Amino acid sequence: MDCIFCKIAAGEIPSTCVYQDESIFAFRDINPQAPVHVLIIPRTHICCADAITDENSDVVAKIFAAIPKIAKAEGLTNGYRVLTNCGEDACQTVKHLHFHLLGGRKLTEQMA
Ligand code: AMP
Ligand code: ZN
Repeated sequence: MDCIFCKIAAGEIPSTCVYQDESIFAFRDINPQAPVHVLIIPRTHICCADAITDENSDVVAKIFAAIPKIAKAEGLTNGYRVLTNCGEDACQTVKHLHFHLLGGRKLTEQMA
């Protein structure tokens, strides 16, 4: 499958990794929208939040268990935002589930 984030998780495309384990991979966004902008992905290919099921959701729990560790390592002591874009209306550009971890400054109140 020609998926850029599968290739990043496999180390076939370079990235700046900030955390990894057997299930998940986290790396810096190439076009950061905040001082800290990390993408956290499952190593397995799930296309988007809409494809999360009872069968594959364990990795999502692992991602959310890793987020506080990554946030701490990134120095996000004053809060942060986690978001995922799903599908056309949310302007998802990479069709491999990813959670944006944003912080390092006061973020806008605007969500959409
Ligand atoms: P989304 O619009 O939610 O699908 O977000 C995709 C994100 O992936 C964007 O913030 C891009 O800047 C980021 N991105 C795309 N290609 C790369 C890459 N090779 N390395 C790091 N981040 C990337
Ligand atoms: Zn993929």
